[in-house]
Amino acid sequence: MEVVKTKAEAKQKIGLWKKQGLKIGFVPTMGYLHKGHLSLMELSKKRADKSVISIFVNPTQFGPSEDFERYPRDIQRDLELSNSVGVDLVFMPEVKEMYPEPIKTWVTVEDLTNNLCGKSRPGHFKGVATVVTKLFNIIQPDIAVFGQKDYQQVQVIKRMVRDLDIPVKIIMAPIVREKDGLAMSSRNTYLSKEERKSAICLFKALNLAKELIKEKGIKKTKELKDQLENFIHSFPFTKIDYIFIGDPEELTETSSITLPTLVALAVYVGTTRLIDNEVIT
Ligand code: AMP
Repeated sequence: MEVVKTKAEAKQKIGLWKKQGLKIGFVPTMGYLHKGHLSLMELSKKRADKSVISIFVNPTQFGPSEDFERYPRDIQRDLELSNSVGVDLVFMPEVKEMYPEPIKTWVTVEDLTNNLCGKSRPGHFKGVATVVTKLFNIIQPDIAVFGQKDYQQVQVIKRMVRDLDIPVKIIMAPIVREKDGLAMSSRNTYLSKEERKSAICLFKALNLAKELIKEKGIKKTKELKDQLENFIHSFPFTKIDYIFIGDPEELTETSSITLPTLVALAVYVGTTRLIDNEVIT
């Protein structure tokens, strides 16, 4: 496994592979890797000849009061883990390499960013779409793998690639969970022992939503939302950021539930904001 820090080195190494006609798979990450990330890398490895990942905590997708500074980092461990799943190249630029000067050009994806995390994290998807465009231009992958854990992100990237004719195929990989069902996340490390117990409320709420829709035949979004809200609030340390129930493609809320429907949650457990989702079919 090779590790490079500059765009020039990444382009040079990948250019040689492309010249040989090899198919390039790419997984962008912010590091502090866990099994969720590794599953994406394994999928990329299966679907392409060479597997490239990036490790870059992108400042432009964090709001001023968010956790950019304290975002967990452990490069040594990340390199060992990515090596263990057969990654061929790690691109890990410094902020100065990606943003040598403040940028004046941004990629914004409209409508799809109005709800869910777009609403509670203004500017977040503008930062994501821009950095992913930059990474796509540097790596020039044939395929790129993103996790369903960040469902809205996948929809935004898919739409961006379509609208801007970026020649890359976007693949969505399933959510990898801890034994009790908590979606794996680098941010889970922020949770205290007691908060960790409450963090299971997201997964449990998704299961409850599924049961209420599929078995109890609940039809009104408002009714489902109220029940999920009460359920989540029955866990200590929780504060709901949003409960979204709506169209899985357009990411618009619907007043009555028709399948398939996306149930997506963002919940603060203590000060840690956790997200999870399921498309109920
Ligand atoms: P991040 O490092 O949080 O930016 O995540 C990098 C990629 O890993 C994104 O495409 C995420 O959706 C994906 N990812 C994060 N957590 C999980 C998980 N538990 N299961 C599957 N994919 C995940």
